[in-house]
Amino acid sequence: MDKAAPKGAGPPHKHIPLRRCVSCGQRSPQRELVRIVRSPGGEVSVDLGRKKLPGRGAYLCRSPECWERAIKKDRLSFALKANVSPEDRQRLQEFALGQLAQAH
Ligand SMILES: [Zn+2]
Repeated sequence: MDKAAPKGAGPPHKHIPLRRCVSCGQRSPQRELVRIVRSPGGEVSVDLGRKKLPGRGAYLCRSPECWERAIKKDRLSFALKANVSPEDRQRLQEFALGQLAQAH
């Protein structure tokens, strides 16, 4: 009986920060998700991780379906506590179609 990991998530010896996708609600390691940031100025952009952008963040899976749902159902406005403008949505959608599609 090996009960070293009572929560059943990942190896017990290493702490992996988990974040929840605002679209499907699934928890994944932070590095596998894409961070969306609302800057203090109100602009919404994709944080590609090299520089940690300041502002309120939300996470999405790298799954195009999650992006589509998040954008259409306005999950991002809720998660970011801000209105995501049509321009921002457009930009996110383009990112989803471009970057995410290439990943596979
Ligand atoms: Zn998701």
